[in-house]
Amino acid sequence: MSTPSICPEWNPVNPAEHKNVWIYIETDKGQILEPSLQILGKGREVADKLGSKLVAVIIGYKIEGLIEDLGKYGADQVIYVDDEKLSTYYAPLYGDVLAHLAKKYKPEAFLVAGTMRGRELAPYIANHLRTGITADLTMIEVDEKNKEVILVRPPFGAWQLAHIRTMRRRPVMGSVRPNVFPTPKKDENRKLESIIKEELPEVHEIGLELISRVEIQKSEEMPIEKAEIIVSGGRGLGSKEGFELIKELASVLGGTYAGSRKAVDLGWIPHERQVGQTGKTVKPNLYVAIGISGAAQHVFGIREAKIVVAINSDQYAPIFENCDYGIVGDYKKIVPELIKQLKELKTKS
Ligand SMILES: Cc1cc2nc3c(=O)[nH]c(=O)nc-3n(C[C@H](O)[C@H](O)[C@H](O)COP(=O)(O)OP(=O)(O)OC[C@H]3O[C@@H](n4cnc5c(N)ncnc54)[C@H](O)[C@@H]3O)c2cc1C
Repeated sequence: MSTPSICPEWNPVNPAEHKNVWIYIETDKGQILEPSLQILGKGREVADKLGSKLVAVIIGYKIEGLIEDLGKYGADQVIYVDDEKLSTYYAPLYGDVLAHLAKKYKPEAFLVAGTMRGRELAPYIANHLRTGITADLTMIEVDEKNKEVILVRPPFGAWQLAHIRTMRRRPVMGSVRPNVFPTPKKDENRKLESIIKEELPEVHEIGLELISRVEIQKSEEMPIEKAEIIVSGGRGLGSKEGFELIKELASVLGGTYAGSRKAVDLGWIPHERQVGQTGKTVKPNLYVAIGISGAAQHVFGIREAKIVVAINSDQYAPIFENCDYGIVGDYKKIVPELIKQLKELKTKS
């Protein structure tokens, strides 16, 4: 029996007709991106709990060489479209093709990595499919009794987690925050059960023309999501110049620098260096928070850090409840002393 439609203009959906967990596999310059592998790993667990197949969906041009590896990372099946018209990523076109595939095969869940591209693409697909979407997932659970996928994300500005159930639409769609799930180990002996090649469907006239594509020059600085040591600064630094000390300490420790949202909003550091709920989740061995109060949205991004050191002039700053070592005092006095002592240690050893 089909369930009623929530909008008279939307065709009703029968959730019982939908099966399998789909992962959109994002590629760049002929490589599978790591956030897609991370959700493939999590997707494996979800599919096992649902008793369904894990399907990797990949579209682009000259991508056939990537397909076998998807089985080694956990997929049961690959559905792909390889066509020259897909050689350049373009959200309306990719969204159209992926929605077309989803309409044909009716997945139960459709997950996309929450990269720049994923965050753009997922709403296009959801809109075509007339389903909801949960952005920035940090956990995916399964209600094993009802065989239902529950998406989990932090709501804005709070410590609690929101558990989101998609009641009447399918697929259950979400974009997953990169780096919250580990990259699965590659199992060289694992093989795909099946590979389905689909032709490029007739897609809608997109009404836009791509005239040129200019690649933004990537910074040569180490990305914070990969760094093992991070020295991070906040509004307490008082000025952009304060970051010179942060960068120097990071360099002496052999790490990189990052900051709070306030530091980004003030224009002291670029957004790609922001840690937290609306920034990046980081997993360093050492995280040094300097002049950062420790708001919930910031601490959210450092839950996976092994050791947190906080330097703050206010002994009651909340960061001290979320650190392993705390130093109370003015960073302008403490950080130069730390740099000096670390340099001395280095010359002695
Ligand atoms: C929806 C939403 C999403 C958000 N996402 C993020 C996010 O992703 N990341 C994030 O960081 N924030 C985020 N925020 C903002 C967050 O709530 C805080 O406002 C922000 O983290 C505060 O930044 P801060 O600690 O640098 O500044 P402040 O809160 O102003 O803290 C500055 C600290 O510096 C200390 N200090 C001052 N002078 C000195 C000194 N000389 N030496 C040492 N310490 C000193 C002060 O005691 C204070 O504790 C978000 C907020 C919302 C509502």
